[in-house]
Amino acid sequence: MPDRTVVLPASPPPADVHDVALLDLDGVVYVGPDAVPGAADAVAAAAARGLRCVYVTNNASRPPEKVGAHLRELGIRADDADVVTSAQLAAGILAGRLPAGSPVLVVGGEGLLDALAAEGLRPVRSMDDAPQAVVQGFGPDLGWRELAEGARAVRAGLFWVASNLDLTVPTPHGPAPGNGALVNAVAAAGGRRPDAVAGKPEARAFRDAAARAGSRRPLAVGDRLDTDLEGARAAGMPGLLVLTGITGVSELLRCPLRARPDLVGRDLAALLAAHPEAVRDGDGRGRCAGAAVAVRDSGLVVEEPGDDALDLLRAACAAALTLPASAAGEEVEVDPDPVVAAVRAREPEAEWAR
Ligand SMILES: [Mg+2]
Repeated sequence: MPDRTVVLPASPPPADVHDVALLDLDGVVYVGPDAVPGAADAVAAAAARGLRCVYVTNNASRPPEKVGAHLRELGIRADDADVVTSAQLAAGILAGRLPAGSPVLVVGGEGLLDALAAEGLRPVRSMDDAPQAVVQGFGPDLGWRELAEGARAVRAGLFWVASNLDLTVPTPHGPAPGNGALVNAVAAAGGRRPDAVAGKPEARAFRDAAARAGSRRPLAVGDRLDTDLEGARAAGMPGLLVLTGITGVSELLRCPLRARPDLVGRDLAALLAAHPEAVRDGDGRGRCAGAAVAVRDSGLVVEEPGDDALDLLRAACAAALTLPASAAGEEVEVDPDPVVAAVRAREPEAEWAR
């Protein structure tokens, strides 16, 4: 084993080294109906330092104007052009393959209709309109008839683009079927899988979004390891995990290599701060600033809590995420509870200490 492995690299404030941050929405900018505290200020401060925030969402149901209006209601200064939806990415894939004006069967909602029209394609709802391809994305009013028409198109061999494959969408009452579940329904009747997927974690998602934004040094930012951070790695782009959404200490410390973040921050203020490096030293101990965490008998042992709960978590990442399971693409089987307890002891209000 090498003496020293850098697990989370040191970084100057991301706002000083990147031109565009590709931000996820739910769990990053807002949680349900409410803004994440401090998000609007962080976006404004980043913009003042030359970092443009662009919002990349897997949700294909709302057109960019509606997402933009929602952001502005939350006090975030965003233009509609700062929003990239998976519907737009899906329409972009089709526009690259079909002549202008081609009819495309839509299995989905308003977001897809608008995105196709914006790319010069003609959305249709029936096989009788001789579509040249089929596109499927989430829409809250999507019904059986549209799914059945989609299956017919798929059986007929039309090129099939899915906006994304998320199995669930969050609702105030818990998870509900997402586009991935509806794609599975069409696949069951159609006898095959989509030919292309537009959204995260596909490698093309952040690449296409960065190209749309004209970015040369993009940073991907999200709260979900299996979409945002996996998508960042797939795209070959640095990824910042923020702890304001679905991922807490326990999920992060089980993260397989394919979804490992480069940077970890509490919230979007992490765009404005320097990040210390976290390293694994020769004896398997993870270190960051003054914090040190060792692995013993598949448990994590906090040897030095350090001065900052986030550095403690970074040190734990350096210890846990270099275990062989992570590189093998599996979840790391390590008990994160001592780290959770130590973070909580230092920062009792941290919701991510779970
Ligand atoms: Mg999210």
